[in-house]
Amino acid sequence: MTDIGLGRTTAAPSTTTALEKDSPAIVFDRVGVSYGRGRKATAALVDFNLRVAAGETVALLGPSGSGKSTALNALAGFVRPTSGWVRLAGRDVTDLPPAKRGIGVVLQSYALFPHMRVTDNVAFGLRSQRVPRAQVAGRVAEALDMVGMSAYAGRLPRELSGGQQQRVAIARALAIRPKVLLLDEPLAALDAQLRQSMLAELQRLKEALPDTAMLYVTHDQSEALALADRIVVMNDARLMDVDTADNLWKRPPTSFTAAFLGGANLIPCTVGRVIGTSALVTFAHKTANTEAPQPAVGRVDWAPGSRALLCVRPHALRIVSLGDRDALRANVTAAAWRGATTRLVLSVGGMPDQLLDVDVPGNARFEIGTEVGVRFPEPAGVLVASP
Ligand code: ADP
Ligand code: MG
Repeated sequence: MTDIGLGRTTAAPSTTTALEKDSPAIVFDRVGVSYGRGRKATAALVDFNLRVAAGETVALLGPSGSGKSTALNALAGFVRPTSGWVRLAGRDVTDLPPAKRGIGVVLQSYALFPHMRVTDNVAFGLRSQRVPRAQVAGRVAEALDMVGMSAYAGRLPRELSGGQQQRVAIARALAIRPKVLLLDEPLAALDAQLRQSMLAELQRLKEALPDTAMLYVTHDQSEALALADRIVVMNDARLMDVDTADNLWKRPPTSFTAAFLGGANLIPCTVGRVIGTSALVTFAHKTANTEAPQPAVGRVDWAPGSRALLCVRPHALRIVSLGDRDALRANVTAAAWRGATTRLVLSVGGMPDQLLDVDVPGNARFEIGTEVGVRFPEPAGVLVASP
């Protein structure tokens, strides 16, 4: 969270950015962020474009180092874009100091003031916004109530558990009644059980704030799926895909998103006949019917004879008897019990370089080396363009 103080390299925005009532709550307009200079410069965010509507929750999901926090920090004002603009409700805030943006921010580390009691931590943003003293107590009480922390108002941060500290940090962000709430891995420091209950609480909070735009940074796909109206998948400083969780899961536009969101088998195949949004493909000497979604603008269409990837989720494959004529023959090379399910890894004849992940019920037992039949669903999966 350093302001690197580099001069911005782009000219003034070409469009006027007068306050418009119908403008999106959040706009990233071709935002680029580089850390360092010259040959040592790291491009942390490249040509990042995103619009978030009032009331919408968008998750930035991606592996560590993919630029998620950089995007959030550029909007919050903690880093200065090297190029591009950020706008809030139509207003260009690129050069505005963080405190003047009216954004609520919650970080993984809570970042509470250790010497201040809960009340004063929550009041902090209100005081720096010069909210009249008579209103502060009421606003603090309201914010603490929203996160169920009213009973802890007099405590110091060290007298609270991690989950309680994070609730206070959320209350502090909410006290200023922000139109935009940014959360950067807010649950990452909590243990698994607490994470689940906090996630449910964030879902409630989202319902309670129907006009607030939320940007939620996480590397955890289950958090993104549970909370977000739309998910932005990030990789290597770039936006890879953006869509509703449902669309990204069912019809992933890229192999990266297919693998990152939910895990997927991506089987190289050859496209045969294409009819509408279905295609016949061949792999492992087998022909199968697949979904062939209309590609987005700018992507190649499915052409007969072209190579593609067949995306099939581990839970969609079924282990059947070797006698099943529609099944592929496979060997169990690994089995890992995960509680409710067991993840099998299979090697398949005719697919020498490709292992298949298959999820079976957790109580099923398979010896390593067992030969089994594996059956694909109908359609067998969805086509994804080869990278
Ligand atoms: P994420 O939040 O997705 O894990 P970040 O946005 O923090 O990723 O980082 C993106 C890239 O920018 C990474 O390569 C990271 O090492 C680099 N980076 C982040 N912050 C700084 C900084 N203050 N100075 C230099 N490089 C940074
Ligand atoms: Mg981060």
